[in-house]
Amino acid sequence: MEISELYTIYKQHPLITTDSRNCPKDSIFFALKGENFNGNRFAEKALNEGCAYAVVDEWEGIPADKRIIVVEDVLNTLQKLANYHRRKLKIPIIAITGTNGKTTTKELVSAILSKEFNVAFTPGNFNNHIGVPLTLLSMTENHEIGVVEMGANHPGEIKLLCDIAEPDFGLITNIGKAHIEGFGSFENIKKTKGELYDFIREHGGKVFVNSDDALLCEMSSGMDRILYGRNNSELFVSGKLYSAHPFLEFDWNFFEHTYHVKTQLVGAFNFDNALAAVAVGKYFGINAEYISKALEEYVPKNNRSQFERTQKNDLIIDAYNANPTSMRAALDFFVKIPSALPKAVIIGEMKELGDITKEEHADLLRFIVEQSFSKVYLVGEAFNESDSPFPVFNTVEELIDELGKHPLEGHYVLLKGSHAVHLEKAIPYL
Ligand code: ATP
Ligand code: MG
Repeated sequence: MEISELYTIYKQHPLITTDSRNCPKDSIFFALKGENFNGNRFAEKALNEGCAYAVVDEWEGIPADKRIIVVEDVLNTLQKLANYHRRKLKIPIIAITGTNGKTTTKELVSAILSKEFNVAFTPGNFNNHIGVPLTLLSMTENHEIGVVEMGANHPGEIKLLCDIAEPDFGLITNIGKAHIEGFGSFENIKKTKGELYDFIREHGGKVFVNSDDALLCEMSSGMDRILYGRNNSELFVSGKLYSAHPFLEFDWNFFEHTYHVKTQLVGAFNFDNALAAVAVGKYFGINAEYISKALEEYVPKNNRSQFERTQKNDLIIDAYNANPTSMRAALDFFVKIPSALPKAVIIGEMKELGDITKEEHADLLRFIVEQSFSKVYLVGEAFNESDSPFPVFNTVEELIDELGKHPLEGHYVLLKGSHAVHLEKAIPYL
């Protein structure tokens, strides 16, 4: 079936599902395949449960049915349909990628733009080769701007996502070490994130660039760019940090005007994310009071740098993800917090680092040793590889056991680790 024909069907049935457990009436089911599942097996079930059509690429055993659309490759068809739809939409699309802070920046940008526009944006962290097409297909004629988060863990992925979403605006939050397993090297990470700039350079458009980031400045040189950053009134948007603890508070400037903002975000690194969002908001002409209000209202989700005061301790919970760059940003921030309480860190291992796992954990330990934390708890097998002067717990359950026996009280505690370590499970014991 031609994409234009499928598009006609989609226009009549704009709801799409790829999950056979969730088949809304009149939706189209795309039978994707994963490592552990084959959507084709659920096509019939999806139709029985209310889907109007099922798009499949394996049809053996499926009874003939007008509602079954056979294509060569379901994923590729989904991506092509998304691109076809994107071209019809004719709205500006802002793509956001980077090593750290994509979701936070995307949420802040969307919150600000939503004050004056009807904005469609990536739900949650749905930023991959499936999430991006689905985000695009959720956009309608009523939307005025699209904000799309793009994630990558191997080279070529951002190019693919750009070819699907055809962004007019690009924003790379930063470039650091993560997913080395899939990328192979830092050079590859830089090249992959840079695919967003490459696309914009080739097709026209603008990029929002953090002027404090030398690498991003170099990579975007010669491009049509909008600069934001700290303490520099020459920039389109400039900011001055007041405090990042417990909550981020700062001034931002636009021309000769200054606005003060008290956010519910924790961590100095969120200042960059917030300034990026202000720059996008200002570029699209959002009223300054609305921008500040959107920033003040935003509450981070899913244990992405949250502050909590329990009966025993003050906690910074940053258990959503971790890689060498964000780990260092979190520790640097934590070290600088003025606090009367002694400081403790609970560090979960950093996953997906492949060959550099050992060296990065050893580096991290060297850094921690140099600090004068009153307590250090390390969680995860990667720490067993290095000569740790601190106790290592293989799992969060082992840590919880220890906290049960020897409770931690009266401390300022940072919890930071990869999602898979589930440090958040220790919160009730702190
Ligand atoms: P993912 O790769 O999972 O999509 P992401 O890039 O979307 O991650 P966020 O979910 O916004 O990032 O933030 C996750 C964590 O990254 C935060 O809890 C924080 O520890 C760290 N982080 C966020 N922004 C930055 C930043 N600008 N610099 C360094 N670390 C950051
Ligand atoms: Mg994300």
